[in-house]
Amino acid sequence: MRYDILINKLEFFGFHGVLEEEKRLGQKFIISGKLTVNSPDALKEDNCEKTVNYSEVCHLIGEIVEKERFNLIESLGDEIARRILLEFPLVDSVTIQVDKPWAPIRLNVENVAVVITRSWHNAYIGVGSNMGDCRSNIETAVKYINDSIFNKNVNVSTLIKTKPYGYVDQNDFLNGAIAIKTMLSPEELLHFLQKIELDLHRTREIHWGPRTIDLDIELYDNLVINEPDLKIPHHEMHKRDFVLQPLCELNPYLVHPVYGKYLVDLYDEIKK
Ligand code: ADP
Ligand code: MG
Repeated sequence: MRYDILINKLEFFGFHGVLEEEKRLGQKFIISGKLTVNSPDALKEDNCEKTVNYSEVCHLIGEIVEKERFNLIESLGDEIARRILLEFPLVDSVTIQVDKPWAPIRLNVENVAVVITRSWHNAYIGVGSNMGDCRSNIETAVKYINDSIFNKNVNVSTLIKTKPYGYVDQNDFLNGAIAIKTMLSPEELLHFLQKIELDLHRTREIHWGPRTIDLDIELYDNLVINEPDLKIPHHEMHKRDFVLQPLCELNPYLVHPVYGKYLVDLYDEIKK
């Protein structure tokens, strides 16, 4: 059962802002929030252990607003949203509004505010390696993903040996898929994965050529993104058996958001 908890206009005194005076003198900040809670049992059992304790949430917000310091109220709102997601696992999504009613803009304004949303998203990552110790490369990449506090529920498919695709004069690949819940946005997740590729000394000499590790975002919720450096679903995933087979092992009834078909059906089509 999903439901929302609302927190309206919690007031604190903090020291956030770009100006020296704001950092020294401080000012009022007003925080409001909407937490979407996913708890199968809270209502059925009428049990406060099975829901989110809003008093604890309010005190956590107070700790952050009063003890930490940010230049931007955007950063303050994002930190509050992230910490709520991390510390209250039943919360699926958080929207935080930070009001700064005394913002020094030398005009008569009632309030300025920012609104930030962070949620847990379901992402599926394709992983491949054909240089060095492929299994160990993939295990290291999975460890990086697991070690980040911004990811949870990491689940890895069986790793399968496959023939190279595109540029064929190279070693066989080891391929797999990784399911995660992540609070990173698609762009943040791409940068996070690219950093892992760099750390594992991936070089990009030949297009589709040998690589110690390749990490691609195959699916992210049911989003469709078509930017020059980020395409989700990943380009041609629906035609690649080394992508579809491990994904189907993790969840055959994922729906490809462009073709509107189950992955298991797309996989059957290319096997024919
Ligand atoms: P490929 O994965 O196609 O074999 P690369 O790993 O070298 O090739 O990726 C090349 C570029 O693909 C990256 O610079 C990245 O910006 C872009 N790209 C676009 N969409 C995605 C995605 N969904 N996941 C990962 N990279 C992507
Ligand atoms: Mg790639």
